[in-house]
Amino acid sequence: MSKKFHAIAIDGPAGAGKSTMAKRIAKELGYVYVDTGAIYRTVGYYVWLCGIGGRDVDGVTRLIDEVNISIEYPEDGLQHMILNGKDVTGEIRTPEMSSYASQVSAHKCVRDFLLDTQRELARTHNVVMDGRDIGTVVLPDAEVKIFLTASPEVRARRRYIELQEKGVSDSYEKVLADMKQRDLQDSTRPIAPLKQAKDAVLLDTSSMTLEESVEAIKSIVEEKLAK
Ligand code: C5P
Repeated sequence: MSKKFHAIAIDGPAGAGKSTMAKRIAKELGYVYVDTGAIYRTVGYYVWLCGIGGRDVDGVTRLIDEVNISIEYPEDGLQHMILNGKDVTGEIRTPEMSSYASQVSAHKCVRDFLLDTQRELARTHNVVMDGRDIGTVVLPDAEVKIFLTASPEVRARRRYIELQEKGVSDSYEKVLADMKQRDLQDSTRPIAPLKQAKDAVLLDTSSMTLEESVEAIKSIVEEKLAK
């Protein structure tokens, strides 16, 4: 008899705090945290390494069969992305790779290529999965769906502080402009755009602290899983 696994889908725009929240919830419940953005970033990184533009649909289509991605979860609790045998977990976290990921993720060949990988993880584990289309496309039957958002200014401020801590010197204005551009690109693409699933709970964390947001998510999750 096949075991039924639970799935929690957290979608929302860049910088909404999805990964921080998803990691916390996954740890508390003992679920696997799946950062789907990291998978798109890994494809974007490969395309960039090959010198192909992210919007070049023919170039990306040609490359996609060469991409071999695996995901590892070592003891450090991080989701490690392995691209053709090499750990690229650090390399994919730059502003340039954010933009590349957004460009390549608009192509059908890329989305089709990654769909099974994501669904397979949910077929075999209890997961907290975050992304843009988890509640709408990847796991439409997830028991819990949350659409996490905050104002662009608040999201950009959070991302700006995060980047500064990593030693990236982009100005707040640049971070905000990049974020708005990525939001627009992600929400207006024809395939699997960023949007709230009809049955997702909307949570705007603009005026919440991190702890308040975690508490709010926990109560949504507890209520939905108890049903
Ligand atoms: O979540 P993160 O900012 O790392 O995602 C990088 C990019 O990957 C997003 O801007 C989006 O274009 C793409 N993405 C997506 N679908 C997902 C997750 C990420 O299209 N489920």
